[in-house]
Amino acid sequence: CAVPADRHQTRVLAVSNQKGGVGKTTTAINLGTALAAIGQRCLIVDMDPQGNASTGLGVARESRTVTIYDVVVDGRSIDDAAVKTAVPGLDIVPADADMSGVEIELSQADRRAYRLRDALRAQGEGGHTRYDYVLIDCPPSLNLLTLNAMSAADAVLVPLQCEFFALEGLTQLMKTVEMVRQSLNPALEIQGLVLTMYDRRNSLSSQVEADVRSHFGDKVYDAVIPRNVRVSEAPSFGKPALIYDLKCAGSQAYLRLARELVAREKSRRQAIAA
Ligand code: ADP
Ligand code: MG
Repeated sequence: CAVPADRHQTRVLAVSNQKGGVGKTTTAINLGTALAAIGQRCLIVDMDPQGNASTGLGVARESRTVTIYDVVVDGRSIDDAAVKTAVPGLDIVPADADMSGVEIELSQADRRAYRLRDALRAQGEGGHTRYDYVLIDCPPSLNLLTLNAMSAADAVLVPLQCEFFALEGLTQLMKTVEMVRQSLNPALEIQGLVLTMYDRRNSLSSQVEADVRSHFGDKVYDAVIPRNVRVSEAPSFGKPALIYDLKCAGSQAYLRLARELVAREKSRRQAIAA
């Protein structure tokens, strides 16, 4: 179908960090919701067999009829798989446990690391889709699903938990990104780093923040996500924190992150156009 002239190019971001429990899924859900809230059409692709992003956005197991598995293994379209969430402007391609077999299913497949990229590109012409942003919630391990995410992405968005081993996981991730650049996707960028679960009462948090900012400079977002119990409660109600409790500190931080990301994206595009 023809692409309306006012459509922006889609920005595809892999939300990734090879450490588990650092806030990848929480960031995908709440950044996606915040982006939608400020008028950006957004798609979350749940690439984790655990399906936490799908559950956290209230997609019941029985309504996950076409999943990311069907997209990467059977070549189903993104349009077939995407379902609307309760958040206007936010869709999700859900995942289910059937994902865990992908590695074996794809071992002999053609373009096996490009299945997601091909599906996203098939949705529109010249890199345009119906979305302004696609956020891919990656699994913690470096497997074929993560490689599919990174070869489909324009850039990697890295959530970093403010704790002692934060930088260690990061070294791993940077190696992976470098490897992907040399093989699957030379254009892959680092979109930015987001500090998550920041605890003002713990001096370790501010120490980690200082370290990360001195290493990565302005790649680190000004918006910092605080540790906030409302954020951790929300998924059990199948709701993003921004719907569960818009006023809580975590929701407000994700809104700031969304605004900052959009502003930075705008200046990036202006710099390219100039
Ligand atoms: P990952 O996807 O990287 O494994 P999750 O997003 O699932 O990480 O987060 C791990 C755990 O930490 C979850 O229980 C989640 O609810 C909790 N969590 C994430 N971000 C926050 C936050 N800002 N405040 C409090 N708890 C959080
Ligand atoms: Mg996760």
